[in-house]
Amino acid sequence: MKIAIEELAGCSGCTIAVLDLHEMILDVLEKAEIVYSPVIMDVKEPPEGVDVSFVTGCVRNEENKERLEKIRSRSKILVALGTCACYGGISGLSMLSSNEDILNTVYRGVETVSEDGVIPKNVPPFLYRAFAVGDIAKIDYYITGCPPKEQFLRQIIPDLLKGDKTELSKKSVCSECDRKMGVVENWSLKRRHEGEPDREHCLLGQGYLCLGPVTFGRCGASCPKNNIPCHGCSGPSLDILREPCRDLYNMMVRRISDLTDIPEKKIEAELYDVSHTMYPFTIGSLIMEDKENSKIRDLVKERSK
Ligand code: SF4
Ligand code: SF4
Ligand code: SF4
Repeated sequence: MKIAIEELAGCSGCTIAVLDLHEMILDVLEKAEIVYSPVIMDVKEPPEGVDVSFVTGCVRNEENKERLEKIRSRSKILVALGTCACYGGISGLSMLSSNEDILNTVYRGVETVSEDGVIPKNVPPFLYRAFAVGDIAKIDYYITGCPPKEQFLRQIIPDLLKGDKTELSKKSVCSECDRKMGVVENWSLKRRHEGEPDREHCLLGQGYLCLGPVTFGRCGASCPKNNIPCHGCSGPSLDILREPCRDLYNMMVRRISDLTDIPEKKIEAELYDVSHTMYPFTIGSLIMEDKENSKIRDLVKERSK
């Protein structure tokens, strides 16, 4: 079996997550040969006839789009690996800046660039927005996570290579979290750096914006278990994804309102920096933008004025 890993607009962390299989990578290599992966080997183009390809990163420029189309046409099975590929991920946040600002930041605004930093002439042009890979190409499987957690890849990858069906939890982060609800009184929204949450009770009930109720699980609720609110790195939970009228923003507002008995309008007035607090991993997804209650359209329009 031949496998390939393609990199689009991302940080390569998803490919490193595959290497995080550690010694299990030897079992994978007994059954499969990695024929293409720009991060781990020096092969410039994917060959024809790949059995299973993984694509990481979102589609942000013309080169990303070409590479996605090429790997799709050369692969029997194409898997979106990681939240950038599945929902645009943090690469999608680039839609909040102008193309000029992005290029200036990358090529002129960093210490390692010479003082007369110039923007190279051969930088691939940006598309008008970021896309999840499924917005552009047919995808056979999605594995979310930023990056996907190694304990799940240990189950998913060998099963995928054997052609077996994998049975994994499809629940939200909350369902993996063992914090108790407790009494909610005098609720007000806190920034992450304010105070120290108690380790026993739900972070949302304590005023910290924890996206656990609207986020797909399979991380073992690792952030709440370490006293950090979930910021949604696995993308939307299945009920958000499937229901057109459910969006991350409106379902979080409703959840907080149910929890606190505070009217939704009042909660909305307390929310801050909605693009980075509610949509940091999904702003680049057309599926999420097209939801009737989505704030993404307005947020992108607002920033590009
Ligand atoms: S999903 Fe996360 S780890 Fe994977 S490429 Fe995107 S930013 Fe990197
Ligand atoms: S909102 Fe956060 S802290 Fe509360 S139960 Fe869900 S994941 Fe745990
Ligand atoms: S708790 Fe949330 S932010 Fe943390 S790893 Fe899980 S999905 Fe990602």
